[in-house]
Amino acid sequence: MLTPLEVETRLERILLKVQKPGRYVGGELNVVVKAWDQVKTRLALVFPDIYDIGISNLGLQILYDQVNQRPDALAERAYAPWVDMEDLMRSKDIPLYSLESKHPLAAFDILGFSLPYETLYTNTLNLLDLAGIPLRTAGRSASDPLVIAGGHACFNPEPMHAFIDAFVIGEGEEVILEIIDTHQRCKRAGLGREELLLEMAKIPGVYVPRFYEVKYLDDGTLASIIPTFPGVPEKIVKRMVAKLPPPTTRFLVPNIDVVHNRVSVEVMRGCTRGCRFCQAGMITRPVRERTVDEIITAAQSAVDATGAEELALLSLSSSDYTDILELVTRIDEQFSGKHLTVSLPSLRIDTVSVELMEKLKDRRSGGFTLAPEAATERMRCIINKYITDEQLLETARQIYSRGWVNIKLYFMIGHPSETLEDVQAIADLCKRVLAEGREFLGSKAKVHAGVSTFIPKPHTPFQWVSVDTAEQIKAKQTLLMHELRGSAFKLSWTPPEDTLLEGWLSRGDRRMAEVVYAAWKNGTKFDAWQDQRRFEAWTGAFATQKLDPAFYTHRPRRADEVFPWDHISDTIRRKYLYNDYLRSMSGTIHLDCRENCDACGILPAFATTRREYPGIYWKCPEVRSPA
Ligand code: SF4
Repeated sequence: MLTPLEVETRLERILLKVQKPGRYVGGELNVVVKAWDQVKTRLALVFPDIYDIGISNLGLQILYDQVNQRPDALAERAYAPWVDMEDLMRSKDIPLYSLESKHPLAAFDILGFSLPYETLYTNTLNLLDLAGIPLRTAGRSASDPLVIAGGHACFNPEPMHAFIDAFVIGEGEEVILEIIDTHQRCKRAGLGREELLLEMAKIPGVYVPRFYEVKYLDDGTLASIIPTFPGVPEKIVKRMVAKLPPPTTRFLVPNIDVVHNRVSVEVMRGCTRGCRFCQAGMITRPVRERTVDEIITAAQSAVDATGAEELALLSLSSSDYTDILELVTRIDEQFSGKHLTVSLPSLRIDTVSVELMEKLKDRRSGGFTLAPEAATERMRCIINKYITDEQLLETARQIYSRGWVNIKLYFMIGHPSETLEDVQAIADLCKRVLAEGREFLGSKAKVHAGVSTFIPKPHTPFQWVSVDTAEQIKAKQTLLMHELRGSAFKLSWTPPEDTLLEGWLSRGDRRMAEVVYAAWKNGTKFDAWQDQRRFEAWTGAFATQKLDPAFYTHRPRRADEVFPWDHISDTIRRKYLYNDYLRSMSGTIHLDCRENCDACGILPAFATTRREYPGIYWKCPEVRSPA
């Protein structure tokens, strides 16, 4: 294995030949470099996309901070090299290395991959290969690092089961420390790899696929997924942090221009709106909020530590933060006289959102974005994101009347039971919004319609439905392209190939692992990049494996079908999801469950935790029954 010095010497010969060498050198402000030999556990956090994207990933920054606070462990980082750098690294025999110490990744005890979305799977294989680590868990020995992964995509880990030793299901802040403790204990005891993995499998929220057996029915659907070892849980229940820990503030400051050069403070986690298409809203329940004081203090510390000029206040639904008006007012006061733009994503469609943006008018970053997701009231009932057209138009009036020229509207096509009339309604609604703008701004008013395609994600009420075919998607997109012409409109959409690929990967079972492997072997990587993704390599991989891609995307599921992710529990009851799916088909909506608990199943699962953390920071009811 190369030493860090050897890695650096080889790097010096190639760095000036690649685009943006700053991606590959580390040394950023707030980087943590610990003495390699003074710690017991060395963890490399790996984001399998390029530095420019990975550096601002909040989850990775939190874990970096969390682990580096331990005196007995270190966390370093690695990102995917862009194709020019990878070619040179391979030709000069430079393995994937960490930015901090330049140790090859193979020298670490644990590699922690961040998998927030499924189109990072082939990059994950590529990085393991570039690191010289056996791709398959079965091929790794005691001297290889433990390869773990976490992130939202891991709520269906099966397509990556062959390559990842252990998955973290849910929130990582506490469990990462337990994984390090267990690793140290097993190392002290001289346990072998299999025994180490067995110990990992006993940590709540950790899924080790090799200890589970999958059986199939004749029709190709699953018969069962059951543990094969005593002491390994039947269901892997997600980890959930009862009280959000103090926010990370010592953000790494990139040396180069990146996608989001900003500091972020997560104001709340979870969402209780219950939009039926939204996986993040389901798997991150319950809602837990930070206090305004905590957020302000963290924002100030983060700005002081980084000199950042942009602050993102993150959550799945900013308007739902209880004290949002107070927060925005105090942020404005706190940074008075300072140049700091503030982004506030996912605002509700109402005039309160306009007031919020008005308060931030000198600090706002970007335009005004609203996400009705569907354009007919029928469809909004189906997806449970109920607003009226009049609410949307009134909000648009308020926005344009205050001088905002452009409104971005997010829609989705492909919702269950959608017809071409529902898609036509998207175009019609965009035109009505533009007409409101013209009242105030004349020909300056603009509408940007961002139209993605629905994918029925695991752990949502829509997990029983199918994805539109490429032909259906194209017909709907063609209609919108035809309708939304002219310089006042901008239309962006997701290519059908991207939708299908994400659908296959997010709904796949264990057999999909061989498709991922074959696609990577066929040269696929950077699937999240439209100019890099090679769709034909994927269809070729399905053919090689004699699997039908339509099996994963284009068939409705039986009510009792065993899903590949059924042994992974986000604690929302399956029956609740199915009933909610039935409610959707009858057009029944339910409102924010903070106002009227809908008994989704979280509280029985986390009753003890809720009892230990009573009060307002959770937005679920108190648990009053005796323990
Ligand atoms: S327990 Fe009740 S309030 Fe909490 S997330 Fe579930 S339905 Fe909503």
